[in-house]
Amino acid sequence: MTCQQKYFYNKIAKVAKDSDYEEGDAMNFGKAFHKVLELTLHTSYSDKLILEAMAEFEVDRFSRPLLTAMLDNYVKLHKASGLKVVRCEFQILTPEYNGFIDFIAQASNGWYIGDNKTAATYKEDIVKRLHLDEQVNLYSHFAPEIARALEMKGPYLGFRYRQSIKSKAGTPAGLAKGTPTYDIEIPASMLKPEEAWSAHLERHGIAVELHNGVAPKRNLNACMDYFRPCEHWSKCYGRLYSESAPEITIHTLESLTDSELLG
Ligand code: SF4
Repeated sequence: MTCQQKYFYNKIAKVAKDSDYEEGDAMNFGKAFHKVLELTLHTSYSDKLILEAMAEFEVDRFSRPLLTAMLDNYVKLHKASGLKVVRCEFQILTPEYNGFIDFIAQASNGWYIGDNKTAATYKEDIVKRLHLDEQVNLYSHFAPEIARALEMKGPYLGFRYRQSIKSKAGTPAGLAKGTPTYDIEIPASMLKPEEAWSAHLERHGIAVELHNGVAPKRNLNACMDYFRPCEHWSKCYGRLYSESAPEITIHTLESLTDSELLG
């Protein structure tokens, strides 16, 4: 979705990532959070499951109180929602699409598709944009197939986008308060899954062309996505991200000589 060149390196050429590339801690933390919820269908958590998930995804041991607080708040909210998660990590596999949906949940009057995110802060602006979100709409495109496969009862009601906040608090009370989950419900009537599917098919067509040998385009605006350098930085920029560029000079007020200042 972001850079054809990156797609080419990862999916077609399958070249190694840069030697200084590090999987983000935040990503591994999120995976551990997902894992515990998956194993309990969002109904509970335990020290044992937390420790196993942390070990599996190599999460820093100091993150344990934070993970516990987030799971505690999440499970409370999930129970209060009245939803029953019937499947986690539901795979959609078609010739044009391969993805995993975080969870499918049954309500008394219909059912939902859901996604879990962990984030440093809650930003209200996402609420205004979510009904057009690509992933939300793409998953919703598969609602009829999901309903059939899992024998969901009632109509597809929409999407539950759940964002759990990672507090930086250093005390148990601070962590308990600072790690809420926001359960954002987007009704099916607001979604435009067919538009998202058309856009996806267009991209899929480009992917097929790339597999057939068409030269990929670089998107230099995507090199710092998620606030960290692309895993293939060196192939586009000529050196590792962690290496300095001696040819380039950075001028600051302090570094300029008097004569340069005087022109
Ligand atoms: S460094 Fe930038 S242009 Fe190159 S593959 Fe990565 S995202 Fe694309």
